[in-house]
Amino acid sequence: MKAYKFKLKPSAKLIAIFDMWLRLLCELYNAAIQERRDAYRINGVCVGKKEQSAQLPDIKKERDDLARIHSQVIQETLKRVDLAFKNFFRRVKEKKEKAGFPRFRSHCRYDSFTYPQSGFKMDQKRKKLHLSKIGSVKLHLSRPIEGVIKTCTIKREADGWYVIFAVEENERKPVVVAPEDEVGIDVGLKSFAVLSTGEPIENPQLYRQAEASLKRAQRRVSRRRKGSHRRKKAARLLAKKHQTVARQRRDFHFKEAKKLVVRFRVIKFEDLMMGNLMKNHHLAKSICDAGWSQFISIAASKAEEAGGRVIVVNPAGTSSRCSRCGQKHKMPLHIRTYRCSSCGLVIDRDHNAAINIKERKGRAVLSGRRRVAVVEEPRTCRATDPESPTITGTRA
Ligand SMILES: [Zn+2]
Repeated sequence: MKAYKFKLKPSAKLIAIFDMWLRLLCELYNAAIQERRDAYRINGVCVGKKEQSAQLPDIKKERDDLARIHSQVIQETLKRVDLAFKNFFRRVKEKKEKAGFPRFRSHCRYDSFTYPQSGFKMDQKRKKLHLSKIGSVKLHLSRPIEGVIKTCTIKREADGWYVIFAVEENERKPVVVAPEDEVGIDVGLKSFAVLSTGEPIENPQLYRQAEASLKRAQRRVSRRRKGSHRRKKAARLLAKKHQTVARQRRDFHFKEAKKLVVRFRVIKFEDLMMGNLMKNHHLAKSICDAGWSQFISIAASKAEEAGGRVIVVNPAGTSSRCSRCGQKHKMPLHIRTYRCSSCGLVIDRDHNAAINIKERKGRAVLSGRRRVAVVEEPRTCRATDPESPTITGTRA
């Protein structure tokens, strides 16, 4: 499966319908969570998706507005609730992390709905998408869709409305084998990354450049009175800025990943899950900045397309070990050049680490291309919300 995302050009009338659907579906989502909570707390029973779906006909009789929404879209909302609970129970079972109970969503955080099978029709020639029970909407078809469209998701973002198709790809294109074998890549301190060949990938420093402007926008939001129109306006602006930065970074990651995949069959990174990279504050910033894990997963997906592989290795001691003789030396962060007292090697710190990474064995990263998950992106920035979320447990 592959995801295609296009910007929609909806009329004001359509936007009103999109907004209304999201409001109603959000209400339904919250009501379904409420029902499960109550059933469990009061009667100690679990209410499942089946039981909740069975109530829909009765609910629709009482609620004309819900009845006007495509039935599969409603079903898909209940499925999201079901998924939220399944994940919750899995977390409880694993006892790995703190198992947060599925939460109510405020309207401003509920921003997508999905046609899971049918009810939509894409006309590529006319660049029009027909949505059942809504109407036709034009879109920016920036590239042709190749394959069979399986699901259709309408999503609200900071700068407008988007459609995301999950598409089953036809045949894979013939794979061109990359000329070089392996490369190790280390997070650079000065540059974005350093390859084991010694070449750096320069950092665009997008975030830090934009940081000042983000901070200004953030301050503007917090200065304005809660609930005011002007605060909402400032919050929208802030959300847009965040979106732009995220897009630029993603774009940069795609370009760099592509360059690597064309050259190397096997690409090795440090395993972020194993490392203590994040523990160091100075480093943490530059790693967050670079969105390193996003880069690894993009590289994995690109490598898979090209018939290559991405491997992550244990990061322990990659910077302290001499890449020529294996001797270990302490390497505090401020020391930029590695000087080996045993064999006399003098080499850039990150370059040395990248070579060590290249030499190690590790585990393959699967790209997750088969599971197209586009619906629930975690929000990292709370400030993008016009309001703090209000909890409404309204019953449908
Ligand atoms: Zn040495």
